[in-house]
Amino acid sequence: MSDCIFCKIVEGKIPCGNIYEDEQVLAFDDIHPMAPVHVIIVPKKHVSTLLDVDVKKSDIAGNLIAAAQKVAQIKGIAAKGFRAVINCNAEGGQVVFHLHMHVLGGRKLQDQLG
Ligand code: AMP
Ligand code: ZN
Repeated sequence: MSDCIFCKIVEGKIPCGNIYEDEQVLAFDDIHPMAPVHVIIVPKKHVSTLLDVDVKKSDIAGNLIAAAQKVAQIKGIAAKGFRAVINCNAEGGQVVFHLHMHVLGGRKLQDQLG
């Protein structure tokens, strides 16, 4: 999608701190980290929101979760624990409309979700 910042990162048009990549997903450091570890995982193919992932596209969800496990191992936070979050639409806090999962860790995260 020509106007999408995460598509531009996937295409290499905007630089990122690449953490992990495979055929389906790209993971990179969040530019405004909310925790010592804050990684964004995106499907390489543009999907706008969580609402666009139906049961026929459930491989997208599986790919994001598998990548979150890899990111947690790479960042050394798997055993201690981490949080994986997908914001959806305005009241869910979604700002970038290319589906993405936040992986947060490296400190004790607060209990409340917002
Ligand atoms: P959300 O509020 O769920 O849409 O999250 C979007 C996230 O993308 C925010 O945490 C931003 O800090 C992050 N972000 C936006 N632009 C970039 C970028 N160029 N590189 C890395 N992270 C970004
Ligand atoms: Zn996109």
